[in-house]
Amino acid sequence: DGEEHENGVVDVDEYEDVWVFIEEHDGEVMSVSWELLAEARTLADELGDDLVALAIGEGLDDVAEQALERGADRVLVADDPVFEPYRADPYGEQFRAIVEERKPSIVLIGGTHTGRDFAGRVAVPAHAGLTADVTELGVDEDGLLEARRPAFGGNVLATILCEEHRPQMATIRPGVFEAADPDGEADGEIVEVDVVVEDDDCVSEVLEREVGDTADITEADRIVAVGHGIDGDLEPARQLADALDAEIAASRAAVDEGWVDGARQVGQTGKTVRPELYVAVGISGAVQHLEGMNKSETVVAINNDPNAPIFEHADYGIVADLFDACPDLAEELEGV
Ligand code: FAD
Repeated sequence: DGEEHENGVVDVDEYEDVWVFIEEHDGEVMSVSWELLAEARTLADELGDDLVALAIGEGLDDVAEQALERGADRVLVADDPVFEPYRADPYGEQFRAIVEERKPSIVLIGGTHTGRDFAGRVAVPAHAGLTADVTELGVDEDGLLEARRPAFGGNVLATILCEEHRPQMATIRPGVFEAADPDGEADGEIVEVDVVVEDDDCVSEVLEREVGDTADITEADRIVAVGHGIDGDLEPARQLADALDAEIAASRAAVDEGWVDGARQVGQTGKTVRPELYVAVGISGAVQHLEGMNKSETVVAINNDPNAPIFEHADYGIVADLFDACPDLAEELEGV
């Protein structure tokens, strides 16, 4: 649109502030949004920029207030029934319009199904590029965003810089940063932006919603993760998970066998989790698995091989057959 974006090169000095997309569903904010807000606070302070939260949806007063309490200097709110239920076209178009008008320097979006779905609709019209699935963020000596992500099957960590384009955009893996607690002070401002989309403009329509496995292991406080050692029998691990009130997760080997849904895979090509408790059941502890769980607070490993690498990364190790250890532990816990 016009000369400004010819070759995607813009006057970078016109762009300022660090933006974080606040993703909510039925008033519940995804924790990745709070993780990003905490990390972006550091980036904004380093750059001398404002930290701006952006929320799109319907009935967002409470969400906006929470964003202020968690450190945003300003919250931009696009509040309208057209955004419920979620569809990529109204979200993408609204986000694009706000970016074009207000010119943020950095835009960070959680790498969730929703974030990944619409982020490209913002990046492409802005000729901005989009670094996907980022696991580390920083600022270089020239004030450029350093977005780092595993590349070539996890063998290198690539740093992506966006020198001549704005905004500098990235989707970030849930679970890699720590959310900050709300400080209870909401002294920033809430700005209602103009809603630029109407239902008639939208090409998509939600006819029916079928809810499948909704568990989000990145939100779980306790996880029982199963590996190839379970040999297709989830029951012992389920007993333990029930006793602990934990979610089931899995290694890639267990997912590849079809024993557990792919949405529950932990690791480099799965999710990153940081629960209070992570119990690894029949998991050897390959580096690609460890990458997704090594920020857990307490790790317990159950494995019948005393030399399994997972024990080097566990706070408590149980060398035993999982088919005995899991029911025994569950029984003990039920009695507590
Ligand atoms: P195994 O390595 O086969 O280990 C099974 C364990 O169970 C063994 O330690 C064994 O001693 C134990 N065991 C067996 N029977 C019992 C029993 N009765 N009681 C107790 N213990 C028992 N892996 C991931 O998990 N997540 C990823 O995201 C991921 N991404 C990858 C990306 C790339 C590019 C590559 C190359 C690999 C990736 N992998 C990933 C695969 C990874 O390298 C391992 O192959 C995988 O993690 C092994 O899964 P596992 O530990 O369940 O199985």
